[in-house]
Amino acid sequence: MNVALKNPKSSVGTLDAIAEALLLPSGIDGVYARTAAFEDVVAGLTAFISRHREPDTEVLRFPPVMSRRQVEKSGYLNSFPHFLGCVCCLSGAETEIRGAVERFEAGQDWTPALSPADLVLSPAACYPVYPLVASRGEVPAQGLLFDVASDCFRHEPSKELDRLQSFRMREYVCVGTAQQVDEFRRRWMARAPDLAGQLGLSWRIDQASDPFFGRGGKLMAVNQVEQGLKFELLVPVRSAQQPTACMSFNCHRDHFGAAWNLRGAAGEVAHTGCVAFGIDRLALALFATHGIELADWPKAVRKALGM
Ligand code: AMP
Ligand code: ZN
Repeated sequence: MNVALKNPKSSVGTLDAIAEALLLPSGIDGVYARTAAFEDVVAGLTAFISRHREPDTEVLRFPPVMSRRQVEKSGYLNSFPHFLGCVCCLSGAETEIRGAVERFEAGQDWTPALSPADLVLSPAACYPVYPLVASRGEVPAQGLLFDVASDCFRHEPSKELDRLQSFRMREYVCVGTAQQVDEFRRRWMARAPDLAGQLGLSWRIDQASDPFFGRGGKLMAVNQVEQGLKFELLVPVRSAQQPTACMSFNCHRDHFGAAWNLRGAAGEVAHTGCVAFGIDRLALALFATHGIELADWPKAVRKALGM
């Protein structure tokens, strides 16, 4: 599907004005303090997405960190090693830890004393679901649906307000047969224009690929597009010419099923797919479209967000 931008309207909230009023600098690119007005919209979006949850969906909320081993086993290092953030700690005997602090106090580099912990910063909200499903045994014939969310980290520092290193992701996830996952993704792609319409956002749905690492990654990205495994809902944030991906519709085929040995009753490897909402980008898109004063937003949009 490649549809022309619907409901086009030039952006009314410039990114500079948004940054000044709503997202305060932290000293690190892509990491911002969010103001109350921004968080009110995030809360509205969260409830809005929940209202569209399909029946029999299990809700799980994950912390911003997850098991390093699980991310390794999921194949993340093969595809996106450049994005991963690992938790490092000072460990060992008291003298070693004190030595690091003394180096810091003497103005020296103390970080060589750090060692990797068992944790990484979650790169996407759905990664912890697959090992959890694996631990429960067979995937039931009707498949499984999840509603998950977490703060996510990707090491892609940027001055652009819509490219964050630390951002929030909400996802609906399907585990089941290839057909169940395909239908799940189709349902959400069919629903997305209405969701964007309720929020008063201009939109276009287009094929996409993930930013796989390195030269080999280029081929993976080409295959992903050829096989139609990723679509995105694009909304003007920076500009109408370069709209920003605010949602993605992903088919993983049997990637996670094979990694985690997820199997149906007949022993076949399960397929998975996910629909991701970039919460901070959606909030940003709303401010870029409707302006920084909530009171000026269209009534229908405020109503959709319960504001
Ligand atoms: P992806 O797994 O890359 O499809 O990401 C899912 C959604 O998360 C995207 O559609 C974006 O809305 C959001 N997202 C991904 N990367 C970033 C980022 N660097 N900053 C803000 N939001 C992001
Ligand atoms: Zn996902």
